[in-house]
Amino acid sequence: MIQLYIPLNFLGVIYREIKQSLADMERLFSLLDQNREVGDAPDARTLLTHGATVKFSHVDFSYESKRQILFDVDFTIAAGSTTAVVGHSGSGKSTLSRLLYRFYEVNGGAITIDGQDLRSLTQASLRHAIGIVPQDTVLFNDSIEYNIAYGRPGASKEEIVAAARAASIHDFIESLPDGYASLVGERGLKLSGGEKQRVAIARTLLKNPAILIFDEATSALDSKAEQAIQAELKEISRSRTTMVIAHRLSTVADADQILVLDHGRIVERGTHQALLAAEGLYAQMWERQQAKGDDDLASPAPAAA
Ligand code: ATP
Repeated sequence: MIQLYIPLNFLGVIYREIKQSLADMERLFSLLDQNREVGDAPDARTLLTHGATVKFSHVDFSYESKRQILFDVDFTIAAGSTTAVVGHSGSGKSTLSRLLYRFYEVNGGAITIDGQDLRSLTQASLRHAIGIVPQDTVLFNDSIEYNIAYGRPGASKEEIVAAARAASIHDFIESLPDGYASLVGERGLKLSGGEKQRVAIARTLLKNPAILIFDEATSALDSKAEQAIQAELKEISRSRTTMVIAHRLSTVADADQILVLDHGRIVERGTHQALLAAEGLYAQMWERQQAKGDDDLASPAPAAA
C-alpha cells in the first residue's frame, strides 16, 4: 500500500508543477490520464472545428475559493487570428491559457470554440485541437527525432525533417555527429533555450493543431535567436487561432488584438497603435520599457497606492 501511495503522490506533485508551468502538458496527460481533476462529462462530444473561433464569455475564475483571479473576462479570438495577452506578473495571463486547455473549470461564464462549450467536449478532442509551445520545453532522454515526432506519433522521417526545416532547426541537427539520432535531454545533449523552443515548434507543426498557445520565453534569448523565433512563430500561427502569452513588445506589435490584463481584469484592448494612442496602461508599459531599454513586459505590478 505504502509502496503504491508514494509514487502516486510523487506523480501528483509533478503533475501540479507541470500544470503550473504549461510545460509538456500533452505528455503529462497521456501519463496521468486517471489523475486529472477535470474529466469528461458522461455525454461529452468530440470538438468539431471550422476555423476555431475562441470565445471567453464573462469568465470568472478562482484557484481557491477565497481569492478570485479572473473577473468578467470577455473576449473573442477570431478564427485564424492572433491575440496577445500582456500585463504585469501575476495579472492572470497564464491562467487564461490553462483555462483554454481546460486544466481547470471556469467558475462563471463560459469558454467556447466554434460555439461549443469546453465543458461539453471530450478532453482528448480538445487537446488534439490545441498545440502548445511552452516557455521551457522539457525534452525526453531520447533522440532528437523522437522528441520532434512526439508531436504526431507515426509521422514519417520525411515529415519530421520537413517540420524541423520549417522550425529552422534542421541544419543544426544535421551538424550534430549523430544527426537526428543524437540523444538529447538530461542525459544527452543539452540544447539552448532557443533550440528547445524550436523543437517544440517542430513538434507543433507536425501536430498541425487548429489552435496554438505560445507561452513566450521569459528567459532572455539573444536578439538574433529572438528574431528567428518570432519569424517562426509568425509562420506557425498563420491561419491558426493563436493566443500568445507575451513578455516582449516585439511579439505584441504584430498581433491582431492585444489584451491588457490588470489584477485579473481586461482593462484595455486593441492593436499596438490603438493602445499607444489611448495613452493608458499599455502606453505606460511601453514608455517605461523604452526608457529602460528593457523589453520585458511582465515586470511586477507597482505596489497599490
Ligand atoms: P507571470 O507573468 O508572472 O507568468 P501571470 O500573469 O501569467 O504571471 P498567473 O500565472 O496567471 O499570472 O497567476 C495569476 C494569479 O493566480 C497569481 O496571483 C498567482 O499567484 C495565482 N495562482 C496561479 N496559480 C495558482 C494556483 N495553482 N493556486 C493558487 N493560486 C494560483
